[in-house]
Amino acid sequence: MKIRQDVADLLHAGLSDREIAAQLHVDAKATVAPARAALGLPKARSGKKPASTLEEAFHRHTQRARDGHMRWTSPIQANGAIIFRWRNRNWTAYQAAFEIHNGRPASGKALPLCGQAQCVAPAHMGDQHDRKARTEAAREARTAQAASLAVPDKVIVDMLTAGHSIASIVRAHRVGPDRVREIRDGLGIEPHRPGIKPEAIDQTFRRRAVPTEDGHLLWPGTDYRINTIDGAAHSALRFAFRQKYGRNPIGKVLPGCGTARCVRPEHVEDRPMREALDSQLATIFGSAA
Ligand SMILES: [Zn+2]
Ligand SMILES: [Zn+2]
Repeated sequence: MKIRQDVADLLHAGLSDREIAAQLHVDAKATVAPARAALGLPKARSGKKPASTLEEAFHRHTQRARDGHMRWTSPIQANGAIIFRWRNRNWTAYQAAFEIHNGRPASGKALPLCGQAQCVAPAHMGDQHDRKARTEAAREARTAQAASLAVPDKVIVDMLTAGHSIASIVRAHRVGPDRVREIRDGLGIEPHRPGIKPEAIDQTFRRRAVPTEDGHLLWPGTDYRINTIDGAAHSALRFAFRQKYGRNPIGKVLPGCGTARCVRPEHVEDRPMREALDSQLATIFGSAA
């Protein structure tokens, strides 16, 4: 006699005639029992304990797959439905998986939300509520995107023209970086590179130096380099000196006011100025200290 492969597989797996008949929708007496006899297999021990929990029954048919997904190891119906029996009732694997994970029956159809076809991992199931929540989240994301479109191009253009970076415009107006980049490219503005700004050296100097209440002008860091449009680099201290004295400084330029990082042109000194001051002091106090 010809034995169906799926029947033979389940017979070898040790299932009873009734279990096989239920799973494969075949007749136990007409199909399964003769196949068992032909294969010379003993009757399944009727003592095989029925699963005491839904979870146990479910996991008799599952196998962990990669990335947390789960495979159904028992035969699947011709129409793709994954069904097993427990406590005289047909369960779809999805229903059972949902209930096992959530501790309540699924509302409406349960389906895997992980995008993996026929995954039965309990944690991956979603019911009607979950799908609705997802749809709502997607709608909210679209609304947020629409709100971002409500920021007029002009606002972005103005900020780009003023030299702001994409990141700072995104932060300020909650617009998508792609949109800002597109506008920037349309304007032909070069990508923003920190430290290199298309402005004249005196502009950079004025922009970065911070006036204090007591009359100093503080450089924001200890790197005094100013990069110019033509690719040259200048020291903010030496630039300040030239502004005041109209000549290049000799030796190191330092704040003569005693305030660290002060670049106020009136407060900076070069070496000859310091030496002159030292000798004046020596004359006054009569000491070579
Ligand atoms: Zn999955
Ligand atoms: Zn000063």
